Amino acid sequence: MSKFKSIDIIVPCFNEEAVIETFHKETQRVIKNISDYTFQYIYVDDGSRDQTLEIMKQLGNSAENIKYLSFSRNFGKESAMYAGLKHSTADYVIIMDADLQHPPSMIPIMIQEIENGYDCCAARRSTRTGESRLRSFFSDIFYKINNHFSDVELVNGAVDYRIMSRQVVNAVLELCEVQRFSKGIFSWIGFETKWIPYENVERKIGTTKWSFKSLLKYAIHGISSFSTAPLRFVSGMGFLISFFAFIYIILTLIKTFITGIDVPGYVTTLSAVLFLGGIIEISIGILGEYIGHIFMESKNRPIYILKHTNIQLDQTRGIQNEKNHH
Ligand code: UDP
Ligand code: MG
Repeated sequence: MSKFKSIDIIVPCFNEEAVIETFHKETQRVIKNISDYTFQYIYVDDGSRDQTLEIMKQLGNSAENIKYLSFSRNFGKESAMYAGLKHSTADYVIIMDADLQHPPSMIPIMIQEIENGYDCCAARRSTRTGESRLRSFFSDIFYKINNHFSDVELVNGAVDYRIMSRQVVNAVLELCEVQRFSKGIFSWIGFETKWIPYENVERKIGTTKWSFKSLLKYAIHGISSFSTAPLRFVSGMGFLISFFAFIYIILTLIKTFITGIDVPGYVTTLSAVLFLGGIIEISIGILGEYIGHIFMESKNRPIYILKHTNIQLDQTRGIQNEKNHH
């Protein structure tokens, strides 16, 4: 046993050839001033189509403490983070983006907080410079809706830049769902998290992998992964509409008894049909969202598939692609 505590730095990378070396240099500059800890990098190549893996291999050959995992295709950042965690063995684990939007200069502060007794320490954007008004607007709405309905509270502006104790990492790995929503998982497992605000940094090199469509999908996925409130909303809607329909029927009956039958309005009928049709479609959609989750989870597929790595697999705590179902 080394007398130093160990820290793994997990970096998910998808088509990051332009920035990965700068990232490594910048991070290395920060951590070489941190004594009393040993660091190891775990770069995760999430099926990049550029030179990302080649650069990782070069880095891996240049130092003992640089590891990489490479997927057979693009599985998404959630899978990349999971793979990194699965192969980490350190006392503390840091997850950060490769694009330098997560300032390496925060690492010493994060380590300090976890030494102060927090289980995790995570970064939270205090500003949104460089983000479009529209994206900020929808993002605010997402957090409001989620925190109102869902059982897991999400912190507005929270990013996937954090340090976690071994205990927390093990808890995260216990949640072995295939369709992962890390922001929810980090909140669901509990523990004490210290949030550190930082100024948003715009991506200088490379481009974001998120389109508006993928963000919307992510938001719907996030809510439906951790809450059944939308399902209750469907039945609530049903009760509400039935209630008003019932009152309407009673009133119409009374009116018919008093004034006799009049010719029903075409517009009224059409509006009712279309309105109800819309409500039913939405309800089916919401149900479908959950059935989709059940379908994907029931296949019990691996979260990622490894193609290359310089990690000795039998020395890691987890076996490749093994899923710990209980
Ligand atoms: N990423 C990944 N797989 C993907 C998409 C992104 O591993 O399918 C990585 C990416 O290389 C980066 C991090 O996740 O290190 C954040 O991605 P990005 O900068 O595109 O997202 P944003 O910062 O815009 O939220
Ligand atoms: Mg980014």
